[in-house]
Amino acid sequence: MPYKLGEVILSREVIAQRVKELAGEIARDADKDKGLVVVGILTGAAFFLTDLVRELPEYLDVRVDFMSVASYGDSTKTSGVVRIFHDLKSSIEGKNVIVVEDIVDSGLTLSHLLGLLENRNPASLKVCVLLDKYERRQTEVKVDYCGFRIEDKFVVGYGLDCAGMWRHLKDIKYVIEE
Ligand code: 5GP
Repeated sequence: MPYKLGEVILSREVIAQRVKELAGEIARDADKDKGLVVVGILTGAAFFLTDLVRELPEYLDVRVDFMSVASYGDSTKTSGVVRIFHDLKSSIEGKNVIVVEDIVDSGLTLSHLLGLLENRNPASLKVCVLLDKYERRQTEVKVDYCGFRIEDKFVVGYGLDCAGMWRHLKDIKYVIEE
């Protein structure tokens, strides 16, 4: 195998603490009468989303839905044009929506996806990402809640994979090419 695991960049304790803080920010900003639809982008963000929503207060009406998308392009570059494999179960029209993504890199996938969701006329559309590789941005994308800004190195764990592997790691680690 050409890859091996490198050092931990974000430990499970650091992640858990930040997830609590993000949930606090989201709850503080939420419209208590309207509730929230939390949309996870499969597969990576499912891990983050399930921890995040469990930190939201009981009094908020929180709904969870998932989408599975893939962007056209080759294995190293995303074109940003996304194809929906699995769509939301419920309409988001008139709802307050937060899209939860594991990592934003060039921003192309997320910005195309947000365009798609915006067309469905939600009352509001916000973005929460666990990791932001801000140096790599090719298009502006509005990130309302960000866990950590990280440098441009490939990471795995806590939902993030490398060719399907290592999603299950509790810590986020660098990958070393051998
Ligand atoms: P972009 O923002 O470039 O359109 O694409 C973001 C997607 O690239 C993420 O959803 C993720 O699948 C993948 N990605 C970008 N950087 C990393 C990384 O460091 N590790 C992993 N596992 N995936 C990454």
